[in-house]
Amino acid sequence: MSYELNDKIKNLVPYEPNCGKYNIRLDANECTFGYDNELLNMVNAAINSVEFNRYPDPVCKTLRKSFADFYGIDYKNVTVGNGSDELISILQSAFMKKGDKLLVCTPDFSMYEFYSSISENPCVKYHKDESLNIDVDMLIKKANDEKASMILFSNPCNPTGQGLPKCDAVRLLNSVDSLVILDEAYMDFWDDKNSLIKDVNCYDNLVVLRTASKAVGSAALRLGFAVANKTISRAISAVKSPYNVNSISQAIGTRIYEKREYLLNRTKYIVENTKVLYNELLKISAETDDFKPYPTKTNFVFIKTSFGKELWEYLKSQSIIIRYMGEYLRITTGTAEEIAATISAIKKFISER
Ligand SMILES: *Cc1c(COP(=O)(O)O)cnc(C)c1O
Repeated sequence: MSYELNDKIKNLVPYEPNCGKYNIRLDANECTFGYDNELLNMVNAAINSVEFNRYPDPVCKTLRKSFADFYGIDYKNVTVGNGSDELISILQSAFMKKGDKLLVCTPDFSMYEFYSSISENPCVKYHKDESLNIDVDMLIKKANDEKASMILFSNPCNPTGQGLPKCDAVRLLNSVDSLVILDEAYMDFWDDKNSLIKDVNCYDNLVVLRTASKAVGSAALRLGFAVANKTISRAISAVKSPYNVNSISQAIGTRIYEKREYLLNRTKYIVENTKVLYNELLKISAETDDFKPYPTKTNFVFIKTSFGKELWEYLKSQSIIIRYMGEYLRITTGTAEEIAATISAIKKFISER
């Protein structure tokens, strides 16, 4: 007898985030704020409404309506996933045929390429230049030269923090035969005017992804949303596993998207704090060689530096966790106190280096 794992999974290692205990956690782009008492009361009411012996609603109707009302769209254009991660995986495995090419950008969210390795679709890459912006004409050329079946990128981008203006996204959609998936996980922090969430019915090749994990502050629920025209939405709904979103998350998610003012005010506060974080990092960069923060449209700041590893390790020793990515660092916005503590630790490290 001999069973061997196949080549594509043999050397994979499970995703292991920084699960150690840190006083300040700025590594995963989560919302800094937990649920307050009012939201926790809402959670209790939501749980009390669940029929635990029954399967969840497979089409998440009330949650879709609540999400759609929040963004001013038609709920029939929405499909819910167990996090947008699940939707990314489903879209790749179902909407690409054997041998079809996926076009991604680099640097971008690493999961895109990962899922293509599982679905065994070749992944081709558009390399961003030093500015980290996407030159949409070059992306269009790449898509058409490669005959890409699917183009997938985050806008605004994780990890770079840069955003592609809507006019460029529209030009891309009109210039390729590929299915274009715009992962708008961070769009709440930028400007709805650059979102295509309201325009999905104008295109036969567009999927917009949203998540409850970032600005909506509910990463624990695992709720992601695919917004697309009705033909594509129907296909996503048909290929997903029927009970992919549990009843508790549906019940809480429905209620959280009803907290419109609360969510919008909190997002505004996070955007203000991100400006503070960026400006403080900019001041450091003015006095430090080889330390360059990029302006951001998100709730984090991306920094180019060659001493990232040492700085990351020093912050860790101070119980502050950020994200280390080779020649870059990424710092998520925290509370005013968390930002102040992180900035002063960075200054201390640099002055003693
Ligand atoms: C955080 C993030 C998501 C969200 O994933 P969920 O599975 O919904 O938590 C999706 N795309 C990008 C680019 C992200 O950074």
